[in-house]
Amino acid sequence: MRRGPVLILLAGFFFDFLGGALGAGLGAPARAQELASERAQARIDRAVAILERLESGRELLAKARAAWALGSTRELGARLRPGAESKTDAVITRYFNPGTGEEHREREVLIHLRTEQRLEDLVLDLAHELVHAATRPAWDPYDPKLTPGDYIRAAIEGEGGEVAAVVAECRVGLEMAALSGASVERCRSYVPAGSTRVSADKVARDFYRVGKWSSELSRRLGSAALPRLSDDAPVLFSSTGRTPYPVALFREFEQINDIACENSRKRLQAVPGRTLASDARSRIRDFLQRRCD
Ligand SMILES: [Zn+2]
Repeated sequence: MRRGPVLILLAGFFFDFLGGALGAGLGAPARAQELASERAQARIDRAVAILERLESGRELLAKARAAWALGSTRELGARLRPGAESKTDAVITRYFNPGTGEEHREREVLIHLRTEQRLEDLVLDLAHELVHAATRPAWDPYDPKLTPGDYIRAAIEGEGGEVAAVVAECRVGLEMAALSGASVERCRSYVPAGSTRVSADKVARDFYRVGKWSSELSRRLGSAALPRLSDDAPVLFSSTGRTPYPVALFREFEQINDIACENSRKRLQAVPGRTLASDARSRIRDFLQRRCD
């Protein structure tokens, strides 16, 4: 399945980044490569055009336009790139004023889409990623109280999380099937027979199936952290880790935590005490104590 990594990049004295690796630049601009890229882009345009014909698709596009303050769906194209797999990358940049301790953040989002697949599946991928891209994450990497369990639950069940994304893609799939007879195999088990509704509960259950990873994950998170975790054979796998989502998300949390800790330590060291507002200093110390020691 399709979820972007949140890998983290750089740290500077007065700003740092949390986010995914952006798309790699193209190599030698051979004509064949250009043609392939034009074809891929054309397939993405077709997928957008199909979404525009569906009620649920129009809703998703409207949300994305609103999230990015775009005037038209055409402008959305700049955020959609062909890729080897479908995923949403977000880069969070944190700007920091060392004199006052104030900060503000910016979030840059880019959607990568695997174009080498059936057009119907590309449409579903686009619907799925738009849900992730149009919603701000329900967690704050610098929240001193953030636990890996919170992080995993938010990524799966939170607003704009995996369950919401699969429900949205399957709604699109059902409409597409009704309109054109397209088959939407990947949604089959989430739509009870004779129903036209997608079961969010069934989707959620599948996301928590981790098979052999169950006992290790429960041990590391504490058994109460994810009550729905089950040792049933996994059926949904993260595109980034090739593991069930809770496992991939646990690793992702550890990476984010390492970088957030490093950024915070550097910030504390780099700025002389007297120039950094004292409550900002104590916030950083609190963060380091709870999340990093
Ligand atoms: Zn996803």
